Amino acid sequence: MGVAAATGGCLCGKIRYRSRLPYRYAVHCHCSMCRRSSGAAFMTWVCFPRESFSFTNEQPAVRRTSAEVHRAHCPDCGAQIYMDYQDSSTIDVSIGTLDAADAIQALDNIWVSARLPLLKGFDSDLPQHDGFSPRT
Ligand SMILES: [Zn+2]
Ligand SMILES: [Zn+2]
Repeated sequence: MGVAAATGGCLCGKIRYRSRLPYRYAVHCHCSMCRRSSGAAFMTWVCFPRESFSFTNEQPAVRRTSAEVHRAHCPDCGAQIYMDYQDSSTIDVSIGTLDAADAIQALDNIWVSARLPLLKGFDSDLPQHDGFSPRT
């Protein structure tokens, strides 16, 4: 019997990754950096322990997008794969790149101070945080 693992990858298939389960937590981030880097209204990050995550095909393009954050994209199709906050013990994977995400449950909305008005009321039963996740 193998170790339970999550797998995923980008739109074109050049970037593939694998991480042992369980993931640590998941979070909806409404910050402007996630919005700009993804083109989406917000990003849902699935946070895996750093040591359990690895790429299994080619390596992504990694860019420093702010003082404490690096983001990885596929250099061919542009899909954002992860957000890496330097003080975090996790690698935060974009939920849309997972092969199977039906079992993922988000625990928080963060950076709601920057949330788009059209998302008012989205997952409003979750804790709302103006800034960073309390779980990093
Ligand atoms: Zn790709
Ligand atoms: Zn963000």
